[in-house]
Amino acid sequence: MARTLTIDGQEDTVLAEASAVLARGLPVAIPTETVYGLAADATNAEAVRRIYAVKGRPSINPLICHMSDLAMAEGYATFDPLSRRLAEAFWPGPLTLVLPLKPDSPIARETTAGLTTVGIRVPQGFAGALIAAYGKPLAAPSANPSGRISPTAASHVEAGLGERLELILDGGPATVGVESTIVKVEADGTLRLLRPGGLSADEIERVAGVTLTRGKAGAAAIEAPGMLPSHYAPRAAVRMNATEVRPGEAFLKFGADSVPGEDKAAAIFALSASGNAAEAASHLFELMKRADEAGVTSIAVSPIPSTGLGEAINDRLVRAAAPRPGPVTDEGTS
Ligand code: AMP
Ligand code: MG
Repeated sequence: MARTLTIDGQEDTVLAEASAVLARGLPVAIPTETVYGLAADATNAEAVRRIYAVKGRPSINPLICHMSDLAMAEGYATFDPLSRRLAEAFWPGPLTLVLPLKPDSPIARETTAGLTTVGIRVPQGFAGALIAAYGKPLAAPSANPSGRISPTAASHVEAGLGERLELILDGGPATVGVESTIVKVEADGTLRLLRPGGLSADEIERVAGVTLTRGKAGAAAIEAPGMLPSHYAPRAAVRMNATEVRPGEAFLKFGADSVPGEDKAAAIFALSASGNAAEAASHLFELMKRADEAGVTSIAVSPIPSTGLGEAINDRLVRAAAPRPGPVTDEGTS
């Protein structure tokens, strides 16, 4: 069973302990502002293989490389002017840039799943300090069994992966609560949204001065498992855009207005009583888990406007609601 270390009040001890585990080629669960990550030395092929093994993640699904700052990132990838402008505006923060790997980059093939590009992000808070102390980038997907709901608290990581890990760092609840937004500047200069996430599209467009392109990119590989239709799957079915609650359902509520059938709900969880998408994003995964734990067979979710962080919320809900490829187990679905 994993040891859980609280970061608050003993940062230096935790930095040293976590660095030692990373140096042994083992993954460590770490807090970030988006979700908890399962981090390992991105330059150590064996360490990165352990991430895939622990999560049960398909190895053709590339991992995001976490860096301490833009200067470190420039050592591993080539930045075009627009990507650099976005990095300067939003790092550290919930934005991942897909960039060409530098020739002879020491990033392990396993990290990028063999692609010639790499997804890079600079996380806020302790994760950035850990990378700076360790001195090398950390590859980190979310610290949950593949296909299941992402963890936004150390207790979620313990419940999902505790038996398979040595060390979990507890930095309190994730403040953003959904994974990073992933964008890529294409060869023709267009800016493509690969995944909506914790930084809204309009904020990116405001700094970029161009409109994001949505939809399929040329290379099928990058659209593959990270974009699996069924992901973030609770055990219960998920029913989106619910304008009424059916008897016995759990209800994830957005806004304050009462909804027909509410009195017959098994449980009601407020994503945001004031109808604030950022607040709803920060509660989404925690409340999906709690709704699931209520033992219901169906989770009804209020309609959520797809503006701001609503786009990321609806993306995750669509995946949570998608037909499952097989029985959902703690081993994941894929
Ligand atoms: P996560 O599951 O949050 O670790 O995010 C990983 C996702 O980032 C992958 O599933 C891809 O969608 C995306 N990604 C990472 N690296 C690349 C890359 N080199 N090119 C395109 N997408 C990438
Ligand atoms: Mg994930």
